[in-house]
Amino acid sequence: MLIEDIYQRFDRIGCLTFATIDGDYPETRIAHLFAWDEEGLYFRTMTIKPFYKQLKETEKLSICGMSASPHVEIGKDGLPNFEPGYTIKATGAVKEISFEELKKKASTKPIFELGVKDTIKYPDTVTFCIYSFKGDYYNYDYDCTSRDHKIIREHFNFGNFPDRFKGLKINSKTCIKCGECELICQSINFKAVYQTKEGYAIDVDKCDVCGSCSKICPVNAIESYC
Ligand code: SF4
Ligand code: SF4
Repeated sequence: MLIEDIYQRFDRIGCLTFATIDGDYPETRIAHLFAWDEEGLYFRTMTIKPFYKQLKETEKLSICGMSASPHVEIGKDGLPNFEPGYTIKATGAVKEISFEELKKKASTKPIFELGVKDTIKYPDTVTFCIYSFKGDYYNYDYDCTSRDHKIIREHFNFGNFPDRFKGLKINSKTCIKCGECELICQSINFKAVYQTKEGYAIDVDKCDVCGSCSKICPVNAIESYC
């Protein structure tokens, strides 16, 4: 996914949760991104805030948001109905951008002008860039109102962030090919578990990580990498 697409998907949500580490505990607040370029995604805070102190101390950040209405209806069956929507998250490394750098960016890319104006109005404002990160985009339509499967998941990596596989895998050495995992996988017209020449596998981009397959597997062949 291109950096502009990642930005647009965050920006469409607007109010995002920004998580930092404060000593031994995570801390969150609502903020938003205001710009992007080929070096990363940009947001602002003020040096007086704990947010600034935590960013400077750890140089780490996680951002996430959800596009759809947070309202969840309970259906006649007593189960929740979620409107179609998406979530997106990114975790990575941040650096402070000087006001001089920000002005330089604004001279060639108008999207940065808002940051310049805001810094002139509130001189304690500073800009940060998340320049190396991993993340994923999770688009859901649980009732398959517009397509034949519930989940579209896209992983992304920007700025060579060190990353590794996350999700479920079937251990082919342990699997006895009983097929129970495929039967229980509850995507409406599409199963994230599929058959291969060797046995069974999981499409991580379609998997909802509901855990039903690993719960039913008689030999614990489904392994979670988190
Ligand atoms: S975790 Fe759920 S969605 Fe994913 S493969 Fe297993 S049963 Fe299917
Ligand atoms: S339920 Fe377990 S043993 Fe059966 S096919 Fe799936 S992974 Fe293999």
